[in-house]
Amino acid sequence: TNFWSAVPQGPADPILGVTDAFKRDPSKHKINVGVGAYRDEDGKPWVLDSVRKAEDILHEQRSDKEYLPITGLANFLTLAAKLAYGADSKPLAENRIAVVQSISGTGALRIGMEFVASFYKGPHTIFLPDPTWGAHPAIAEKAGLAVKRYRYFDRKNIGLDFIGMKEDLQNADEGSVILLHACAQNPTGVDPTKEQWKELSDLIKAKKHLAFFDMAYQGFASGDVDRDAFALRYFVEQGHQIMLCQSFAKNLGLYGERAGTFSMVTSSVEEKERVLSQLKRVIRPLYSSPPLHPAQLVATILGSPELYTEWLGEVKKMADRIIAMRSTLYDKLVALETPGNWDHIKSQIGMFSFTGLTPEQVDALAKSAHIYMTKDGRISMAGLNEHNIDYFANSVSKAVK
Ligand code: PMP
Repeated sequence: TNFWSAVPQGPADPILGVTDAFKRDPSKHKINVGVGAYRDEDGKPWVLDSVRKAEDILHEQRSDKEYLPITGLANFLTLAAKLAYGADSKPLAENRIAVVQSISGTGALRIGMEFVASFYKGPHTIFLPDPTWGAHPAIAEKAGLAVKRYRYFDRKNIGLDFIGMKEDLQNADEGSVILLHACAQNPTGVDPTKEQWKELSDLIKAKKHLAFFDMAYQGFASGDVDRDAFALRYFVEQGHQIMLCQSFAKNLGLYGERAGTFSMVTSSVEEKERVLSQLKRVIRPLYSSPPLHPAQLVATILGSPELYTEWLGEVKKMADRIIAMRSTLYDKLVALETPGNWDHIKSQIGMFSFTGLTPEQVDALAKSAHIYMTKDGRISMAGLNEHNIDYFANSVSKAVK
């Protein structure tokens, strides 16, 4: 008997599918601006020097391969939390932040949402920004949460729909879970300003909502890890019992290593211990314990003053290259007299730019120019470099005209 004849073909992942199409294209002009991974000046993946050095150190150490505890490598957790919350964080000093290692940001989201589904007394509805990273809804649904949206992006003005956002958070049932991108919102590249974050903090507090932060790009937005942690740290200062998903995929270039943490602020050491005991029960049946190598790598870098300083420089270098590509692309589109306003290319931050290209234009660019991006017109600025940006700008300009 054949058990699986009725299994239907699943749809291609909308983001990873772009890379498949790119790989199949034999053209030598082809450009992949679909994938959210950093590329260097020659369009190649870049392993940071600080990471290579940490690998050398680990290789020399010849440590064993024993299992980690369910919650992960202790030293890694301490250093990762300090990076996110800041060395002077009050709940960190008071030892009341529960932190566990996760399978990068995705795994952190799953742990956090499952914890909410099991223990949260408020409504089991998570509000996601519209639009948001493509995997968020599925992770929330698998964890057992209902998904709703709050307005985020104003398509007409290609900027933040702050009024719509506030209205939707105001109208949400009291105590709802609100997912917030800590910085460099994916896919729009549009973040609230500091003043807007302050207003959001007040509103979320007044409504007794739970602020659930996803921080996948700390350092990538401005080049400065502290500046990019502003929203998170401000909410913590204001007394929000936030939850945090932290990924090291982008800022350390550790994509495939899967390094990350999930953490949450609790009200006491004793409460933290109870929360940790339950986080273990979320993790154990999922994958038992997290991977050793990525935690050792990150801990080696964050724990060494020299490597840490070198890494900060490398984060800045990646962010700066992306920012430079933004202004070059903007200048070229304007010089080519491309119809429309392209200011947003320069004002958006982080890895992505929401170009405003229509699905038809996206298709046309793939077919006639071998340029691949997601259907929503999002491009990864990291896919552009001095060698391909003329061709890219010319092709986009043509597609719009
Ligand atoms: N959240 C957001 C907003 C992201 O953009 C990403 C990566 N694209 C992630 C989480 C998770 O990534 P990873 O699991 O690779 O850390």
